[in-house]
Amino acid sequence: MPDTPRYAVIGHPIAHSLSPRLHALFGKQTGVALEYTALDAEPAAFAGAVLEFFAEGGRGVNVTLPHKAAAYVLADVRTPTAQRLGVANVLTLLPDGHIEADGNDGAGMLADMRARCGIDLRHRNVLLLGAGGAARAAGFALLDADVKSLVIANRTPERAQDLASVLARPERIRVRAWDALERSRAFDVVVNATSAGVQRAALALPVSLVGARTLAYDLSYGPAAEPFLAWARDAGCRAAFDGLGMLVETAAASFEHWHGVRPDTATTWAVLHARLA
Ligand code: NDP
Repeated sequence: MPDTPRYAVIGHPIAHSLSPRLHALFGKQTGVALEYTALDAEPAAFAGAVLEFFAEGGRGVNVTLPHKAAAYVLADVRTPTAQRLGVANVLTLLPDGHIEADGNDGAGMLADMRARCGIDLRHRNVLLLGAGGAARAAGFALLDADVKSLVIANRTPERAQDLASVLARPERIRVRAWDALERSRAFDVVVNATSAGVQRAALALPVSLVGARTLAYDLSYGPAAEPFLAWARDAGCRAAFDGLGMLVETAAASFEHWHGVRPDTATTWAVLHARLA
């Protein structure tokens, strides 16, 4: 099918990526014909691989670790969201031949929190764990969602301070040292944006962070989310969610951007969740 539009996810490593499966499900569901592959490229080969993909007819690329910063640099034009994040997870070949960079991780997280998890973030006191790329996207999104306060804690405190400066809402943001979390009050929502689970490292979190109404959300999913979700359940959180829905929402946003059709994310989440269980 030489005329079938081509898309891809690029990362290193990439074999674990669920994106090809997700976009195939979306295509089937919406009747959109597409080809979607996974491209493995080491950092030195990233730009060449993307340019070659577009030169050979590719139309859009989802970008994952470790290339999100390089994707931002490679683009000719950047959406306002990408500009404030300074990284990109979607590259699109525009009709005029320019490459557009966008960032939709934060919007994907919010969509999942609202639609699937039923989390209303307005006027909530939120703890954000982590200060890497995903935490930056999550931080902007949480502020956009009108949280009352955002406390950031990170293993390396200087990075938490840097993130607070980038988010630039001093009236709503506080930085807390990790070992001072013991003395924190309970939060309405605890968001884990660290990669500790992926690295199979334990997160030392006090139960005092949790009250009867606390909701917990981990950006990781699958086995990587299990330790945090187990902590949340044991500590007495009202509910705890992993980031599979965020992945689905983020992929759906890319799909809609490229094809003009919004897939049904609830159905797709259920299919994927059942397959992974
Ligand atoms: P980064 O490498 O940019 O940041 C990692 C963060 O985790 C840093 O804040 C780091 O702290 C912290 N960290 C790592 N190990 C530990 C540990 N043992 N204890 C405490 N903190 C630790 O990663 P990303 O921000 O890109 O990704 C973070 C997570 O979000 C990953 O699990 C990723 O899979 C997930 N994610 C999920 C998405 C989805 O769609 N569901 C989308 C994007 C990301 P320090 O600064 O001290 O190194």
